[in-house]
Amino acid sequence: MNDDILLIKNLVIEYELKRYSIRAIDDVTMAFKRGSITAIVGESGSGKTTLASAILEVISSPGRIISGDVLYFQNAQGFETKINNLKPKQLNHYRWQECSMVFQGAQSSLNPVMTIYEQFYETMMVHATGNIQKGELKEKVLRRAKEVLEIVNLDVDRIMPMYPHELSGGMKQRVMIAFSLLLNPKIIILDEPTTALDVITQDSIFKILKNINRDMGVTMILLTHDMGVVAKFADFVGVMYAGKLVEYADTKSVFGKRLHPYTNGLISATPSIIADNSSLKPIEGVPPDLLALPSGCPFHPRCPQAFSKCPLLKPKLIELNNHLVSCHLYDKEETKA
Ligand code: SF4
Repeated sequence: MNDDILLIKNLVIEYELKRYSIRAIDDVTMAFKRGSITAIVGESGSGKTTLASAILEVISSPGRIISGDVLYFQNAQGFETKINNLKPKQLNHYRWQECSMVFQGAQSSLNPVMTIYEQFYETMMVHATGNIQKGELKEKVLRRAKEVLEIVNLDVDRIMPMYPHELSGGMKQRVMIAFSLLLNPKIIILDEPTTALDVITQDSIFKILKNINRDMGVTMILLTHDMGVVAKFADFVGVMYAGKLVEYADTKSVFGKRLHPYTNGLISATPSIIADNSSLKPIEGVPPDLLALPSGCPFHPRCPQAFSKCPLLKPKLIELNNHLVSCHLYDKEETKA
């Protein structure tokens, strides 16, 4: 039995420009448990969106996988599928029918000149197999649209003839989630799904997502920089910095132990509605330039716990009781474990 639905293995992705290459993902290995919600967190440029693009095999040019694999396990007994080796027809099936994505900014993801029905129809037509008749497809679209719009608490008859500009921000986001469910995928990637929404709408969207995860067993991968959302919503957390995975564990351990100083900084900088926020501490400095990464540990110029070894040697990802961390503070613990 295989508990994992996805495994990213030693993945390296670079953007090749005329005079130089930018390493956006640097030797990342990470597993995603079937039926879980895993958050990938980090500031802009940390590599989380590139990692998600690799899972869907939609890395934008001039980016490309230099080495490593993205492995998908369709079921617990099934054999692995190398996503980066799939042929176009296989990829067309994998995208949306096995793994779909809710892109950041629902406004720009929906086609402004098509009704919601037309957009549902087009997506199902592109992925239809065999010689399906127009009338049969229309019936299928209406049936499935009703199912998925009901899951996200939207009124089918009202929504289907509407254009995106006629919907509120929260409604658009719920339509996008319905879209992602259209072809019954096993994995949904959510890229900052509630950015720019008010807190009440955010909360209702996350309740819907949680229900989909629990009732339908859909594995979710959440890309975010919001640690408050992670604490409430995710089962596992992967923290990325400068294209590297620097910490990974279940959410309780990550928040309880905060092993990596960067994770500690992210959590300490998260405001709370109920707590006294006067002691909030932002992380000093700015994310590194990927073209001129600091030597050794790339976090060292911003790290309050940096010591002599940090600018000299790159830390390795080590495992301490099912908790992965990449930091020289734990080199000795690894030897003891
Ligand atoms: Fe800080 Fe050093 Fe750990 Fe990097 S390796 S996070 S600089 S203590």
